[in-house]
Amino acid sequence: MDRRIELSTHLEAVKSELPPTVTLIVVTKTFPSSDAEILYALGQRHFGENRDSEGAEKSEQLPDDAIWHFQGGIQSNKLKSIVRWSDYIHSLDDLSHAKKISQYAQELDKRQRCFIQVNLDEGQESSGQRSGVKPLQLMEFASAIVGLSGLEIVGVMGVGPLHGDPNQAFANLKKSSLSLQQEIPSAKYISAGMSGDYKIAIEHGATHIRLGSSILGSRSPAP
Ligand SMILES: *Cc1c(COP(=O)(O)O)cnc(C)c1O
Repeated sequence: MDRRIELSTHLEAVKSELPPTVTLIVVTKTFPSSDAEILYALGQRHFGENRDSEGAEKSEQLPDDAIWHFQGGIQSNKLKSIVRWSDYIHSLDDLSHAKKISQYAQELDKRQRCFIQVNLDEGQESSGQRSGVKPLQLMEFASAIVGLSGLEIVGVMGVGPLHGDPNQAFANLKKSSLSLQQEIPSAKYISAGMSGDYKIAIEHGATHIRLGSSILGSRSPAP
């Protein structure tokens, strides 16, 4: 099938069911810039990437009003570049990264908007440690970074559990969001939900969903 028709069909199917308050980020990672360009022509503006090099390249190819989200694991030696091309960083969970973001953002005279990533794998220590601040440490982390110039905390981000019921995880993320708002009232966003679980995330208050495969098709396995 023609790629434009394919992407348009998938995009419309998802969008027709989304509440108007939810921001759809299409995760174009591993797919070519040409796909992002087709999506842009179809009216899509928010794009997500997991790697600095891909994000830098695609953001260069697309018109300036495209909005770029970085949601991958942060490597500090890539942060300067990420701050240059991304409008939002979703995966902040480390104080030294926050300080670097603050420094680079000030150098570029921008405000870098960031979500704090919260680890939703509570009680599953053995099953592989994934990224994110532990919910119990969220407030301490938030108060450590809230004063950094050039950095704006817009909310929390979470990745649902690999196996099992995402309901509890997203309910916990909502609680984290409410406590964060006691410290930072403007940090209202909740970035949660991928292709497999976004409807559940929306039930639990997600304001931003990050969809890759349901729009673009399956990715080849990571190298
Ligand atoms: C890859 C990725 C997505 C999109 O995943 P799909 O299952 O393809 O929708 C969303 N969020 C993060 C953090 C990702 O790494």
